[in-house]
Amino acid sequence: MKKNTAVYPGTFDPVTNGHLDIIERASGIFDKVIVTIALNSSKVPLFTKEERKSMIKEVINKYKNVEVDSFDGLLVNYAAKKKANTIIRGLRVLSDFEYEFQMSLTNRKLAPDINTIFLMPNEKYAYLNSSLVKELAKFKGQIKSFVPEPVRKKLEEKFR
Ligand code: ADP
Repeated sequence: MKKNTAVYPGTFDPVTNGHLDIIERASGIFDKVIVTIALNSSKVPLFTKEERKSMIKEVINKYKNVEVDSFDGLLVNYAAKKKANTIIRGLRVLSDFEYEFQMSLTNRKLAPDINTIFLMPNEKYAYLNSSLVKELAKFKGQIKSFVPEPVRKKLEEKFR
């Protein structure tokens, strides 16, 4: 039987409860989900690849069909290599739409057999992103409702 594998790409700097919400939904839909850290992003990350990977690893432990990886280069090439037929992206507020629309149509042009599926998080995470959490942590704001416990600890260590 054909396995349905999805890749969930992102910067994950660091992984938040919003990302986790999407991971949980995807884990219930697909046979296998690969959360994959994009290394060629123009953003300069706060956490190294290893730190981001290890935080993700800790929080996906309970999902047996979810794993973590990283990639360089084109996402569609990576997806094909992993035999994934779906790209997962999270859709929050309207401001995400234009960029995501452009990316997904470009990826479809490059790889017509790979579909992008958008999942919406619980509304309580609709405004949440990693930059906001980093900003809050930097100024010693409360972050415990936005990130899993191991990530809260790592963020507090970084800004101590
Ligand atoms: P990128 O740099 O690729 O946008 P991010 O780590 O910021 O990387 O996001 C990865 C994916 O997770 C994107 O599809 C993004 O829209 C989604 N995402 C980020 N935060 C949330 C959230 N709070 N709720 C739902 N989806 C989210």
